[in-house]
Amino acid sequence: MRKLRLAGIWLLLLCLLTGCQGGAAAAEDSPAVEVEAAASEVPAVTDAPVDGMLTVYYLDVGEGNAALIESQGHFMLVDGGDRDYSSKVVAVLKSFGVETLDYVIVSHFDADHLNGIVGALHVFPVDTVLAPDYTADTNIYRSYVSIMQEKGLAAVTPQVGDAFAFGDASFTVVGPTRYDHADVNDNSIAIRLVFGGNSFLFTGDAEAGSESEILSTGQDLDVDVLEAGHHGSDSSTSQGLLDAASPEAVVVSCGAGNSYGHPAQAVMERLQAKGVTLFRTDVQGDISVTSDGVNLTWNAEPTTDWSYGSGGTDRGAEDAVAEDTWDDSVKYDSVGDTNTSAAYILNTHTRKFHLPDCPSAEKISVKNYAESNESRDQLIAEGYSPCGNCKP
Ligand SMILES: [Zn+2]
Ligand SMILES: [Zn+2]
Repeated sequence: MRKLRLAGIWLLLLCLLTGCQGGAAAAEDSPAVEVEAAASEVPAVTDAPVDGMLTVYYLDVGEGNAALIESQGHFMLVDGGDRDYSSKVVAVLKSFGVETLDYVIVSHFDADHLNGIVGALHVFPVDTVLAPDYTADTNIYRSYVSIMQEKGLAAVTPQVGDAFAFGDASFTVVGPTRYDHADVNDNSIAIRLVFGGNSFLFTGDAEAGSESEILSTGQDLDVDVLEAGHHGSDSSTSQGLLDAASPEAVVVSCGAGNSYGHPAQAVMERLQAKGVTLFRTDVQGDISVTSDGVNLTWNAEPTTDWSYGSGGTDRGAEDAVAEDTWDDSVKYDSVGDTNTSAAYILNTHTRKFHLPDCPSAEKISVKNYAESNESRDQLIAEGYSPCGNCKP
């Protein structure tokens, strides 16, 4: 059975890679950028029959969060993980043949969510960015603001109840109810994604305080799959939220052996008592679940590892320790990316530039690798010299 399921996933992947789902569709559609317009155009969130499949990839980004959602040639990225995983997230998107991201959702601006978003914004055209209404005094936030400006993007600040169409799926913003929390985790944008009869809840790093505000709105929070809040922190995935969501499965996205004690003992106990099936990126790596609108198919069996983290200072240290800047010199090679659309490959150490197919370009270390679409003359003006082999 498991083999069959995996085969299905691989067929889907192959399909994506070879473009048999019609990759051009995403580029041709133009979802409304205005919240109001999107909200009025989107069909009511119902369990009407759907065509095709929707897959949620909960990427293993260590101690962080990043989920890629794909349906019928549409792509959406919810958070992007921290600096060490930014290149992985971009590589995964490339390997799936992403040409345009319909939506990028920044749950909040903490580095373990924002870094890979900044990476993706550098590489992929994005139709709509949803981000919370507050600012941060960090380098990665400044990188985010600068790439948004460079790409001519203005983030939409969604309000509770705003609904957005995503192919045959749709999602509703269920939180936060306000953006002025003292703890920025509580400003996390939370969404409920619906595809036919299947549904998924993402709450970023929202803590119990924000969760209870969300609960007080009386919205439908019932889902099949819940991502545990704040990487399985003790202060999130409260009993109230768990009861309202009543998920059949819970995914925890956290780093193996992280120093914050994620997932917390109390959360593991609440989940186990609730009788959910458990998936966790720190134990199982990348997790994916495919919906046909009725049934869910996972890429792995649920884990029976209910172990929890120990010690840790939880929130607070997280931001101090997390890398704060986006390293744009990392090579996007984690998922066997062989073709690049960049004009030139740079070695930032030797200051040589190459054609993308130059054998020397393959040997550049990850640390010194960069891609550029600047002109030959611009690069030379910046102190780069052409490779003697490929003579760019
Ligand atoms: Zn986080
Ligand atoms: Zn956070």
